[in-house]
Amino acid sequence: MQDKYKRVYNFSAGPAVLPVEVLETARDEMLNYQGSGMSVMEMSHRSKTYDNIIKEAEKDLRELIDIPQNYKVLFLQGGAHLQFSAVPVNLLKNGVADYIVTGQWAKKAYVEAQKYGKINKVATSEDKNFSYIPDCSDLDIDENADYVYICENNTIYGTKFWTLPNTKGKVLVSDMSSCFLSEPVDVTKYGLIFAGVQKNVGPAGVQIVIVREDLLSDELPKWAPTMLNYKIHADKDSLYNTPPAYGIYICGLVFKWLKKLGGLKVMKEINEKKAKILYDFLDGSKLFKGTVEKNSRSLMNIPFVTGSDEMDKKFIEEVTKAGLVQLKGHRSVGGMRASLYNAMPIEGVIALVEFMKKFESEN
Ligand SMILES: *Cc1c(COP(=O)(O)O)cnc(C)c1O
Repeated sequence: MQDKYKRVYNFSAGPAVLPVEVLETARDEMLNYQGSGMSVMEMSHRSKTYDNIIKEAEKDLRELIDIPQNYKVLFLQGGAHLQFSAVPVNLLKNGVADYIVTGQWAKKAYVEAQKYGKINKVATSEDKNFSYIPDCSDLDIDENADYVYICENNTIYGTKFWTLPNTKGKVLVSDMSSCFLSEPVDVTKYGLIFAGVQKNVGPAGVQIVIVREDLLSDELPKWAPTMLNYKIHADKDSLYNTPPAYGIYICGLVFKWLKKLGGLKVMKEINEKKAKILYDFLDGSKLFKGTVEKNSRSLMNIPFVTGSDEMDKKFIEEVTKAGLVQLKGHRSVGGMRASLYNAMPIEGVIALVEFMKKFESEN
């Protein structure tokens, strides 16, 4: 490989690693997208060529997750953060919702929603710095709750809901930003799924929302901003205004990459294999240890510590020099965090564990 295309192993939690094949296709199509004589960046979102790009992206996504016909797929902007507002603005009818707070992102969503209604915290794992997923089999669900909210994979803390909460018949809303497309999903269990794509799917700037049609409302409160109205975006097939056009194109390439790989079942097997390599090492290591309760462990984000801030710092310095980058943990957990998203090759995980073994023997 030419030096100018040399790559590191990038363990960033987001924006994060993308498949090399996707980046190569984007490079090849950069100046002239399929005979159009222009880049996708330069193209009208109302053109026939772009219409094909966004339609095909939606079609491939529907195929990948097996999205039923009565769910709409929206490509939006504003980060996952804007969904913290959009969800209550669109879904509150009785003005009540129940939130399960398993980390900073869920907490932010919970706080934001309070602007719009009576928002209950029905479970939390804050007592142990969000290092586990609480038992959600018999929660005190409000009988008037319009929905129950979870953050399914907690990017910062490295926990994941392996069992969905018992919502007692209420609509389930999930922030899937950091586990979206990492494994198959039964969409019918949810009323609404949203994901910021910069974790596992594409470049920052695109939000994907999958929402059951009957939850879309024509009659939002008068004050509700037009841009937050799901129904408007759904009726216009995500082309109400200029969408994040280039980002959607890259997401479309990633969907094709996933299909070629064999789909989400195959992707999950690969992700399990990658995560197992690191977890097995952590479980046997005398120097490094994982920070999450075993049955709550994420396949995507794996925090670990040595127990000494000085040693953590030394490790990060040395591992970075070896071309394994972005391993510094989030400040609220400390230590290290390895994000093993779809596009992280297994060779990257093996290289990390080999480095950790060597570091352990020397320190
Ligand atoms: C990163 C992240 C967010 C915040 O995303 P922004 O696009 O920065 O708003 C929210 N939820 C989860 C689960 C995340 O991983």
